[in-house]
Amino acid sequence: MATPDVLVLGLGGAGSAAAAHLAARGASVLGLEQFTPGHALGSSHGDSRVIRQAYFEDPAYVPLLRRAYELWADLDATDPGILTITGGLMVGHADSQTVAGSLGSAREHGLAHEMLDAAGIRERFPMFAPADDLVALFEERSGFVRPERTVLEHLRRAAAGGADLRFGERVLGWTASDRGVTVRTAEATYDAGHLVLAPGAWAPGLLADLGVPLRVERRVMHWFEPVGSMEPWQVGRHPVWIWEESPDVQSYGFPAYGDPADGVKVALYGAREPDEHVDPDALDRVVHPDKAARLADHLATRLPALPGRHLRGVACMYTTAPDEHFVVARHPGHATVTVATGFSGHGFKFVPVLGEVLADLALDGSTRHPIALFDPARF
Ligand SMILES: Cc1cc2nc3c(=O)[nH]c(=O)nc-3n(C[C@H](O)[C@H](O)[C@H](O)COP(=O)(O)OP(=O)(O)OC[C@H]3O[C@@H](n4cnc5c(N)ncnc54)[C@H](O)[C@@H]3O)c2cc1C
Repeated sequence: MATPDVLVLGLGGAGSAAAAHLAARGASVLGLEQFTPGHALGSSHGDSRVIRQAYFEDPAYVPLLRRAYELWADLDATDPGILTITGGLMVGHADSQTVAGSLGSAREHGLAHEMLDAAGIRERFPMFAPADDLVALFEERSGFVRPERTVLEHLRRAAAGGADLRFGERVLGWTASDRGVTVRTAEATYDAGHLVLAPGAWAPGLLADLGVPLRVERRVMHWFEPVGSMEPWQVGRHPVWIWEESPDVQSYGFPAYGDPADGVKVALYGAREPDEHVDPDALDRVVHPDKAARLADHLATRLPALPGRHLRGVACMYTTAPDEHFVVARHPGHATVTVATGFSGHGFKFVPVLGEVLADLALDGSTRHPIALFDPARF
């Protein structure tokens, strides 16, 4: 095999998008993935991911989101339903990061939004029962995307562009020089001009020399059967939502879509617990009934009709940077390596634009997209 221009390590959310964009630009690409296409063992599974533009995490993400929405529309044109716009409700106290941060981003970037008081929330979205001192920002362009289908579509595009994609092959180590990289698996040793490292929760082991203290966290998604009719939970009537309780506890959820027997999906975003810091090869995939019961209790006073019966839970992993901002750059120690990590539980909505950014960094060494916030040198 001729030496590929770029080797992409990890074909999950970010890596599959990078492979698609690199191949579309005519680069020769070798992709290596330890599991199967669109697998459920990393961070890019569980049917749905929230997408929004009024970004409370930092307004610097908004230009990337604008471009991501264009690329999501393109993916949706090939696989209709990959993106569903259903409106998004960001609930909390007026000074919470979720509300104030979303409003700040919306104002700074001129994004369409509405503010609702507690009565307005209850009237418009009757499944919510906010206390009188809560408010919400409603963003019409918010919605959800389908992670497994996104990965599969990017892999399809990469292969159509000539990429050589290999599954069930685990990378054991890599070295880099000024001329290129060498990557070792149990099966073979590969040389390439450039390495894009997009290993998700396996980043701490593969990027130990990056100097970013990443934390891998276990996060469980839950599906509940609501009490009463499924009708008020459907797309078009019920929005995607994030509800900030305190800076450490946010819950979020989705409307119902597809098979009514699937129920309605919800999860906790904050609520850090020491036992949630995990080794990705030894992730506890069991959903503990006491945790499901705690989430049901939490929901009972907020979306009272939601926690009827707990249907199922699925474990997933966040790879979290200390400031919860992404780490996307040329590797500071190796000019022939580009890194994509630290997505801190909010990366999926960016996946298509990350593909564009990673292709820029690998092929050109720089990008027109604003990624200064993601510089690993900040640690
Ligand atoms: C429960 C949960 C809810 C989330 N909700 C949202 C949301 O609503 N909105 C949002 O925007 N984001 C959300 N996220 C975050 C988002 O899903 C992640 O940021 C994103 O999926 C990360 O993609 P990734 O490519 O870094 O990781 P992955 O998709 O896991 O890809 C990494 C890949 O690298 C492979 N790999 C690793 N090491 C090796 C090796 N040595 N050899 C070969 N292959 C290797 C892995 O097998 C994997 O396929 C959520 C995440 C979770 C877990």
